[in-house]
Amino acid sequence: MKVFKFGGASVKDADAVRNVQKIIGRFIDEDLLIVFSAMGKTTNALEKVTEAWIKHNPEVIDLLKTLTDFHYSIAEELKIDKKVLNNRINTLHDILLTEPPTFYDEAYDMIVSFGELFSTDIISSFLNASNVVDAREVIITDETHRNGSVKWDQTKKNILHAVSRLRAGKPALIISQGFIGSTGNGKPVTLGREGSDFSAAIFAWALEAEEMIIWKDVPGVLNADPRYFDDTVKLEKMSYRDAIELAYYGASVIHPKTIQPLQNSEIPLYVRSFYDPGQTGTLIYSFEEREHGDQIPSFIIKHDQILMSISPRDFSFIAEGNLHGIFGSLSQLGIHINMMQLSAISFSIVIDNISEKLESLLINLKEDYRIRYNSGLELITIRYYDQGTIDKIVGSRKVLLEQKSRTTVQLVVE
Ligand code: ASP
Repeated sequence: MKVFKFGGASVKDADAVRNVQKIIGRFIDEDLLIVFSAMGKTTNALEKVTEAWIKHNPEVIDLLKTLTDFHYSIAEELKIDKKVLNNRINTLHDILLTEPPTFYDEAYDMIVSFGELFSTDIISSFLNASNVVDAREVIITDETHRNGSVKWDQTKKNILHAVSRLRAGKPALIISQGFIGSTGNGKPVTLGREGSDFSAAIFAWALEAEEMIIWKDVPGVLNADPRYFDDTVKLEKMSYRDAIELAYYGASVIHPKTIQPLQNSEIPLYVRSFYDPGQTGTLIYSFEEREHGDQIPSFIIKHDQILMSISPRDFSFIAEGNLHGIFGSLSQLGIHINMMQLSAISFSIVIDNISEKLESLLINLKEDYRIRYNSGLELITIRYYDQGTIDKIVGSRKVLLEQKSRTTVQLVVE
């Protein structure tokens, strides 16, 4: 069994869906389980629908109409029967006429999960694939809406049960949704934005797949974001460890949670281009980490960063007690630290510039700490660096904070 994942860009319109059909045609003799994301920018649009629903904004119906027109027009172009899609849209419409739950994240999951369902309704009909596993029935999580934590044993059992039922005739083509699951008591849950990669990895792990392929609009994993770098290089292969590290530092190529289930069962992960499916892409596997010195450096840039220095007002040393309080505040506000450094009387953190959270953090800390911060900074991470690459990327800019490990350097620059 191979597990594929097609993201939003790969199914953004009727032509894209036809292209997916061609790619699947290359694997006609294989058992396939394919995870699809919502089409194009549907998840963003559904976030706006949720917002309007919560605020009792009458605009909600117009927002839904734009979204349903988008899906109907793809269905029409693909000449499929619209009955199933129509029922699904009516279900969402009916939900939007009810009173939203008070807890925002629960409302979010109720509405946003429809994007993936619309997508598989259309694609399964177009592919004539009757084997659809509803991800909400198999991927079971805790109650953490918008970031469900998977209950692995139960999920594995469910997936094996659902798939073995559908696999009777070989080769099987089974379709499911990315990004969504449900709590044990049936409430829909999402797994975090861009979570479909993770969903595919959950299926691959449960089925002990021979490989997983993420089909993307790039030729594989590149050593830098082509939006900011002209001379990017495709990496032929990389270790699970490198993939996790790069995702952790903010590389957008794979969802950070994807690697762990694959690594646990040593399932090879390929990142391949849906524009050029004949190419091999990048293979991520249990390779040794690249030897420092003979490898291609990878670059990750985070924009709009804040460097905050936090010092006790009474000029005492920063000690474990202070850190405990500061981390508590950060965790409570859901602020992720991108980099940190400790000195005798100051603790420096680099965080994304999210103004509401920043304001609350300043309120929480201002009584005990003096806080200074610089905004509009760039955080550069280079994995497998050397001085030449650092000099080239930093140029004449001022470095405000720097941290080096054996393999990775992080620099905060103006
Ligand atoms: N549709 C979801 C999102 O846009 C999940 C995914 O595409 O991976 O975040």
